Amino acid sequence: MSKVAIITGASSGIGHATALELAQRGFPVMLAARREERLKELQQEIEAIGGKVSYRVVDVTSYAEMEALAKATVDEFGRVDILVNNAGVMPISFLNKRKIDEWDQMIDVNIKGVLYGIGAVLPYMEAQKSGHIINISSVAGHIVGPGSSVYSGTKYAVRAITEGLRQEMKFGQNVRTTIICPGAVETELTNTITDKDLDRIREQFKNMKVLEGKNIADAIAYAIEQPEHVDVNEIIVRPTAQS
Ligand code: NDP
Repeated sequence: MSKVAIITGASSGIGHATALELAQRGFPVMLAARREERLKELQQEIEAIGGKVSYRVVDVTSYAEMEALAKATVDEFGRVDILVNNAGVMPISFLNKRKIDEWDQMIDVNIKGVLYGIGAVLPYMEAQKSGHIINISSVAGHIVGPGSSVYSGTKYAVRAITEGLRQEMKFGQNVRTTIICPGAVETELTNTITDKDLDRIREQFKNMKVLEGKNIADAIAYAIEQPEHVDVNEIIVRPTAQS
């Protein structure tokens, strides 16, 4: 029986590419995000290549919605083997701009969203005595730059939470954990930046051959497709030219 995967943030970028890649490799996929039209389009694309797919409109900042997502996955596909906690936002800014709403949004989506995903699927994975939770951190989860304090804080937190989960899950539950740390990937992520002083980020990307979503999807698939006793704990993937 094929492993069943939930992918949050499947409506664009890395999540979209990951859903497509896993479906192409034969995994039934449950797509989750807020923009329903995007999810419908991807569902059709996956069905057209013969993949098994469903979607659910979910805001990852609601624990009730994340629980309903996990339940819907099990109702539809019989189990949940893989959760890719990918949904994230990056409205980076200098701290003295006091963009409090954007700080809250990053903490809610990037940290609480990941925790709620873990909380929602763990009961099923523990009952199955198998599972794999893949959390998307970032190179910004290893280094901090001006403007990225809060975003980096959330991505360091994702790494800490994933490592804690790994240590708690190694006593027979057979739940694997993987941290994925992408460098610059061409997606919609920079669209939410409102701090004009950070336009240089976009300029910097213009002068570099950045990654495609598929490059990250391949790293995720690599971790998933290892034998059950092999737990790929962390992968960093940067564009060759990124410092
Ligand atoms: P995109 O902006 O293209 O995708 C972000 C996804 O997150 C969208 O599908 C969006 O869907 C979803 N999302 C945002 N907020 C919510 C929410 N409240 N509830 C549900 N879904 C939500 O960016 P990326 O693909 O680049 O980002 C994916 C992950 O990769 C993020 O965690 C990001 O931090 C990380 N990352 C990206 C890098 C890059 O260079 N692109 C580098 C390092 C890490 P919708 O709006 O439909 O809800």
